[in-house]
Amino acid sequence: MENTTYKILLIEDDELDQMAFKRHLSSENLPYEYVVVSSISEAQDVLSSEQFDIILTDFTLGDGTALDILDAVKDIPIVLTTGARDEDVAVKAWKAGAYDYLSKDFERNYLRAIPKTIENAIRRRQIEEALDKKQKNLEAIFDAVPIGMFLVDEKLAIARANDAITKMFHRDFSQIIGRRFGDALGCSNQINSEEGCGYTPACPGCSLRKTMQGVLDSEQSIYGLEIRPTLTINDEEIQPWFRISAKPVKIDNIKHIIVAIDDVTERKKAENERLLAEEKYRMIFENSAAAITLVDEQERLISWNKFTEGLLGMEGEELYLLPVKSLYPNGEWERIRTFDVRQKGMQHHLETKMMKKDGSLIDVDISLSVLKDSDGNTTGSIGVIRDITERKQAEDKLKETMELKSQFISTVSHELRTPLAAMKEGLGIVLDQVVGDINEKQKKFLDIAKRNADRLGALINDVLDFQKLSAGKMNLDIQDNDIAQVISEVHETMTLYAKKHDVELVTELPENLPVAKFDHGKITQVLTNLISNAVKFTPANGMASVNVRHKNEELVISVHDTGMGIPKEALPKIFERFYRVHRPDKQIQGTGLGLAIVHKIVLMHGGRIEVESEENQGTTFTVYLPLNPKPVHQDTCPKTDKVIEATIEKSGTD
Ligand code: ADP
Repeated sequence: MENTTYKILLIEDDELDQMAFKRHLSSENLPYEYVVVSSISEAQDVLSSEQFDIILTDFTLGDGTALDILDAVKDIPIVLTTGARDEDVAVKAWKAGAYDYLSKDFERNYLRAIPKTIENAIRRRQIEEALDKKQKNLEAIFDAVPIGMFLVDEKLAIARANDAITKMFHRDFSQIIGRRFGDALGCSNQINSEEGCGYTPACPGCSLRKTMQGVLDSEQSIYGLEIRPTLTINDEEIQPWFRISAKPVKIDNIKHIIVAIDDVTERKKAENERLLAEEKYRMIFENSAAAITLVDEQERLISWNKFTEGLLGMEGEELYLLPVKSLYPNGEWERIRTFDVRQKGMQHHLETKMMKKDGSLIDVDISLSVLKDSDGNTTGSIGVIRDITERKQAEDKLKETMELKSQFISTVSHELRTPLAAMKEGLGIVLDQVVGDINEKQKKFLDIAKRNADRLGALINDVLDFQKLSAGKMNLDIQDNDIAQVISEVHETMTLYAKKHDVELVTELPENLPVAKFDHGKITQVLTNLISNAVKFTPANGMASVNVRHKNEELVISVHDTGMGIPKEALPKIFERFYRVHRPDKQIQGTGLGLAIVHKIVLMHGGRIEVESEENQGTTFTVYLPLNPKPVHQDTCPKTDKVIEATIEKSGTD
């Protein structure tokens, strides 16, 4: 170390001292470079153009004192050479930043101390530089951390703040440094006060100030304290949430607090929303008029609402961790499990029976949903259970009633058919004058009787058909059929009827219609019904036409007429049983069952029917029949009717 070469600037106006210095350095072979000047101004000149490791300077010089040099030079260690007993001067210089001093003595022994003094001064300088760097690094960290940092002094004023603070509170350093919390952060209670934080009556309870005072007094740290001050930022009052940690520290032996502050408003908001949502769901859960149960992955009850207890007749403790299996009749839970709801992770809806505590069974409707964790593992399931015992009983009763009604209708209709057939037969014989002549007047009345007997016969047939369809007792005989042939047959049968009404019946049949699968008899019935309506609701000299084409694997059959049409408001109802458009000025006979039967038959064939109509212009019914119908069971057809309430009088009014 001692051989390290340093470059020295000696400021010395005493020539003898200068010479002694030079002589000593060369006689001792000291490895220093040096420049010697005699005044402050000379020194300043050299310093502006040359670098030195150390300055040795006399205190009193011709154009000033060493203090001037100490003032001007901050980055080079300075050692003073002073006259003996000049210690006051040395202390003064020390305070001004001198590193050391050499006391000149008469024999110039002080020169021997030069290497050691230089070495010490330079070492100290290096240490100071390192500390300075460390300090600067710490300050840089303090400034750069993304959470707000304060250094608060013992008067609770903010001595230092970082960038994050200025951003968090939308204030610049001049508004923060040297101020107390309320002022610094823009506390609404402080905003108009000249005095500063804690001086206005509005803020005696400021939790932040109180907490900080507590930290100072107790010298205990606090962590994660959450406070919600009311701040006025850019003239707008806000109430953010802050999370604060504070640690007491001593700086220059004075109490300070380091405070870290984080804006947690968003997190708090999310937390509050979550709590609110939880509360909402808890209310729904508790107040639901259905039983709601939560089952763990071992299929044990872990949570349920009040309604569940009422439904099962059990108390809380009896239900907790109860295997859900025990709430069902033997084997029923296993059956429900075969739906494999848990594996498929879907919702499942089913009707089943559950067992109450007293062993009685209740009909229930259950919606089961599987619960999964974030990794997709099943953690349990939720069941929403409704007691449908009463509904089931009502349904059974209704079924029974329907069965009775349909039996009644079919019995009555059959019973009516036989005597009616005999009546018609008898009337026919008399009208055909097989048993003797009848006069015109007798014929007229017998004709009326015959027409009404026919009408009654048609009504009985419709009622029986409809009843069979509704009760699901009508089976289709689906076979390969030729629609052109069916239409020709119907055309032939209906021609006479059309003629009687003075309506022209036109049928257009394209060549090469494909063979289709349908029930010959039922589709004949559909076409007969539609054509008979077309004729019936068309005034004399009108036209009824039948069209058929093949499109998209379907037969499209339309029956069009130029008749009186159907009012718009009646269109949605015409396929309902017994619905008839009210036409007070026209006496057109009918049962109101024809279109309901047509509709059912078409649906049973997997087809559909559409209607377009304009009053006094005409009507078109279009039937779409798939060439290859999938078997459609009657039960799956949309239900047109619930209970047959047919009464013969009702339908025979016009
Ligand atoms: P109805 O026995 O009265 O013919 P439907 O069920 O066949 O019973 O028809 C129901 C009602 O729909 C009829 O009363 C009639 O008012 C109306 N309707 C059906 N077809 C036609 C049509 N082609 N033109 C005008 N109205 C029709």
